[in-house]
Amino acid sequence: MQDNDDFDIHDGQRAAGSDGDVEKALRPLAFDDFSGQEKIISNLRIFVQAARLRGEALDHTLLHGPPGLGKTTLSNIVANELGVGFKVTSGPVLDKPGDLAGILMSLEPHDVLFIDEIHRLHPIVEEYLYSAMEDYRIDILLDKGPGAKSVQLTLSPFTLIGATTRGGLLTAPLRARFGINCHLEYYDHDVLKGIVRRSARLLRVGISEEAALEIALRSRGTPRIANALLRRVRDFAMVKGDGTVTLEIARMALEALNIDRYGLDEIDNKILLTIIDKFKGGPVGLSTIATALGEDAGTIEEVYEPFLIKEGFIKRTPRGREVTHLAYRHLGRTPASSPDSLFGDEPI
Ligand code: ADP
Repeated sequence: MQDNDDFDIHDGQRAAGSDGDVEKALRPLAFDDFSGQEKIISNLRIFVQAARLRGEALDHTLLHGPPGLGKTTLSNIVANELGVGFKVTSGPVLDKPGDLAGILMSLEPHDVLFIDEIHRLHPIVEEYLYSAMEDYRIDILLDKGPGAKSVQLTLSPFTLIGATTRGGLLTAPLRARFGINCHLEYYDHDVLKGIVRRSARLLRVGISEEAALEIALRSRGTPRIANALLRRVRDFAMVKGDGTVTLEIARMALEALNIDRYGLDEIDNKILLTIIDKFKGGPVGLSTIATALGEDAGTIEEVYEPFLIKEGFIKRTPRGREVTHLAYRHLGRTPASSPDSLFGDEPI
């Protein structure tokens, strides 16, 4: 989650050290190194090139999608490709307008300001952002109380890139101020396999094709998880083998780490179990599932459910969510004879 660093990722020289350092070293720095999300990348390439040709700041850009899919990475790449500076902050960190003003004033012309978790901006800070985004101006309040004066400051034209896992929580006025809007999708196994192989190359770890695929299959469609699993599997290869990640080593490590065969995490499995055990497999309404789990319905809908639907564990039906046979099989449950549920008539 940090800004451009002074080392060259391409030679992997400094790809050792702590997990944080490793994560940074694996981060692609150019469009050409970024795998997957083809449509988004081809559009962004055009927008970036056009902005450069016009000598203007790129339009404000909103990236939304589940965690670990490359929102921060992509923002950093956009700044690199524009040839401008990159500043990083996040919604919850900006408590008061003064925090935002400080950052905005420090931007050079056409710089990229990345605000992670932009849906968590304080409403007052968000309001300040509107004029900054629209007119590159902010009003600063000098002093407090009834006699307080304000001055208007002019900012350098800049690009705001906002990232959010919860696009649904963004207010309409903020959303309307983004000219470019991209939704990142979960990665296919093949693309993830390529990411694992690239990371292994940078870490100087030998890995077989099948082992890379095995890691990809268990990574929940998410590059961050794929890289994290590779790091742990690499440890097993060093201690239990000759340092090379074979399929056997990968399987042994992933079993030892208790990684789900399909890459589902604890909450994914809880969602499926809740629908199966409490609602006879569904159909059941989203808010009912959320209440039973003590989770926020929006989080389930935007963060968890898309992966479960993509991998075929859940179906959306007009009467609610329903688990599939794959979910029963995966969790070792047997479907009840009647598919209808007492709770299945709640509207979605
Ligand atoms: P987000 O901001 O969406 O939570 P990040 O940009 O922090 O995700 O990505 C997490 C990690 O995954 C990064 O360190 C990066 O190395 C890796 N990564 C993400 N997307 C890609 C990609 N398309 N190709 C290669 N690596 C990627």
